[in-house]
Amino acid sequence: MKYLDEFSDPDLAARLVEQIHAVTTRPWALMEVCGGQTHSIIRHGIDQLLPDGVEMIHGPGCPVCVTPLETIDRALAIAAQPGVVFCSFGDMLRVPGSSQDLFSIKSAGGDVRVVYSPLDALRLARENPDREVVFFGIGFETTAPANAMTVYQAQRQGIANFSLLVSHVLVPPAIAAIMESPSCRVQAFLAAGHVCSVMGTSQYPPLADRYGVPIVVTGFEPLDILEGIRRTVTQLEEGRHELENAYPRAVPDEGNPTAMAMLRDVFEVTDRTWRGIGMIPGSGWKLSERYADLDAERRFSVTDLHTAESPLCRSGEVLQGLIKPHECAAFGQECTPRRPLGATMVSSEGACAAYYTYRRLDLLTTSP
Ligand code: SF4
Repeated sequence: MKYLDEFSDPDLAARLVEQIHAVTTRPWALMEVCGGQTHSIIRHGIDQLLPDGVEMIHGPGCPVCVTPLETIDRALAIAAQPGVVFCSFGDMLRVPGSSQDLFSIKSAGGDVRVVYSPLDALRLARENPDREVVFFGIGFETTAPANAMTVYQAQRQGIANFSLLVSHVLVPPAIAAIMESPSCRVQAFLAAGHVCSVMGTSQYPPLADRYGVPIVVTGFEPLDILEGIRRTVTQLEEGRHELENAYPRAVPDEGNPTAMAMLRDVFEVTDRTWRGIGMIPGSGWKLSERYADLDAERRFSVTDLHTAESPLCRSGEVLQGLIKPHECAAFGQECTPRRPLGATMVSSEGACAAYYTYRRLDLLTTSP
């Protein structure tokens, strides 16, 4: 298949692995920012092909995983209200809140629906004027343009029974927070290609300069990842710290100006709490004042939230790259994709789910 098979070619992959080995003279710690890249790395065993001492640290780029517990609990409280149709992408339904998830709200009679686009939720609002339709708008810069467009359309079409529960997060402030952490071991980043396809690459050279780290915009297929690693290691070995775009087939340096204009109109930057990590200044978007009446958080006053994470779950350390998923004692024991204790075991982009799906037989049989 075009763009898939040609970027999975085993001979080319072997050649890139050879080049990485040839250029490497010492240990390096690289972080892939995006959970999609984490899954590709673990699925294809890319980390196991690297020279000894070149470590892939898995970053926080899983949107479902970093949605704050308080927001999940708020979503659950809104979804349980009579007269509400609560719409979400499917991967949010099993994300554990403090005591329940959206599936349990649905099984208790709540009208929770899986949709494939925020515009599906807007259509539901148009068709059900006597119901309040809420869409759970989470994610990075990648998913935000479609949500922004939906809010814009709702206002333009005068659909007053639609609102958005917003929890958007931004990659560059997260990179800064990782580098500012006293426990940071990261020496270079593979930046998330799909985020840059929207936002362009201009936010990254200042980060590369300020923290002295190479940043390589990288795609998701095996050859993309290997090329991103080859370029970051080459920069580290040569003492350079620059932005490189290794994903030009999808990422123009200027990004998508139309999407960015829509984002600027609908959202404004705000501080955001990241689940398991804490508050990162200026790391999210909220609806701008012009669209405030479509903000589900304002429309449904949900108070009295008492959040409580599972005491066993170490997903915050996983998301910061401080431990690997199997170093959590609950991995594959109390916590599995069927009975997840943390969001990183639920999401298709979560690191715990990646290790469980592709490595559990090795990891669980070799554990003491
Ligand atoms: S394995 Fe489960 S309990 Fe452990 S960090 Fe991952 S999600 Fe949390």
